[in-house]
Amino acid sequence: MPRIAVLTSGGDSPGMNSAVTSVARSAAYYGMSLIGIKRGYNGLLGLSDGPEDDIFEMNLDTVLDLADLPGTYLRTARCTQFLDPKVREEAARNLKKLDVIGLVVIGGDGSFRGAQQLCNLGIPCIGIPGTIDNDLPYTELTLGYDTAVNCDVNAVRCIRATSRSHDRPAVVEVMGRNCGDVALATAEATGSEIVLVPEMEWSIDDVAARLSKLVSSGNTRATIVVAEGAYASMKSFDVYGFLKPYGVEVYEGQKMNAKLLASTLTKKTHAEVRATVVGYTQRGCQPTARDCSFALEAGNMAVARLRSGLGNQVVGTRNNRTFHTSMDTALCETRSFKESLYNLINSL
Ligand code: ADP
Repeated sequence: MPRIAVLTSGGDSPGMNSAVTSVARSAAYYGMSLIGIKRGYNGLLGLSDGPEDDIFEMNLDTVLDLADLPGTYLRTARCTQFLDPKVREEAARNLKKLDVIGLVVIGGDGSFRGAQQLCNLGIPCIGIPGTIDNDLPYTELTLGYDTAVNCDVNAVRCIRATSRSHDRPAVVEVMGRNCGDVALATAEATGSEIVLVPEMEWSIDDVAARLSKLVSSGNTRATIVVAEGAYASMKSFDVYGFLKPYGVEVYEGQKMNAKLLASTLTKKTHAEVRATVVGYTQRGCQPTARDCSFALEAGNMAVARLRSGLGNQVVGTRNNRTFHTSMDTALCETRSFKESLYNLINSL
């Protein structure tokens, strides 16, 4: 019976379990057995820090009930040792000893780079994109992105109830370290008035001026959606020097964050701005239908590729079609940012 292996790596994202279930179902359908590897690349090296075996035969019956759950049953972790070529050779040797015809890697671009290196060592690997930030340019959707956006839309709606009741504008911080897609989609769907993303430079004074205008025209519940990485694209501003004289708790050299942004805007506009960081709740929501549907097709396509003897490929989705492409090409693509949508949200 041919065998394949599967692991999840990098940050967990809703939909990873759905993809693992799809891989398990497809493997069973094609008459293949499936090896699960715990905690990303650590499991391949016996470095996985858990009481159970790092490498184990996956039981379809167990996996079936996990498909709708967020997080990852296989656990996930970063593995810095894997950056060492000698360690990767050891991982490839371990995979060869397992006699697998290939490995499915569910994760983000870092995990794919690891998979690319394993392919160079003769292990066919197929990548399935699992990362909330949606920062893989070759695909329109990565697992977890749609779920996170829906979670953030819900958060904005909940916060808006109190914003409206108390006439308090809101800063809502969402995920997105280098990619503003989650913030942009959340702001669009909720009709938020300001969105701040890592891709676009912005200034405190411009945001304060726009907020003042909104408030004076009667919109006292305006919402500012901020990607967590957007503080890096803020034009230079001395947050300590500005807020300290007002008695705000801030220390010298402190970087801008959601709370300090709300305090700064409060002082600059005289509206009472409050901050909420949605945080890890974005990782814990039940995966949406869209994420689960993509997971089903992606898992099946990954197994079918390995079965055909192919590796060094990734699965993605574009125009509602699931496709596969070369891992090398996919990792070279550059992102295009939806600047016109960004401008529309910040001007309406
Ligand atoms: P993500 O997959 O979500 O982008 P990381 O960037 O943290 O997450 O990568 C996950 C893991 O992938 C790392 O801990 C490491 O084991 C492996 N990895 C990342 N970059 C490389 C690389 N350039 N070469 C080999 N392995 C890598």
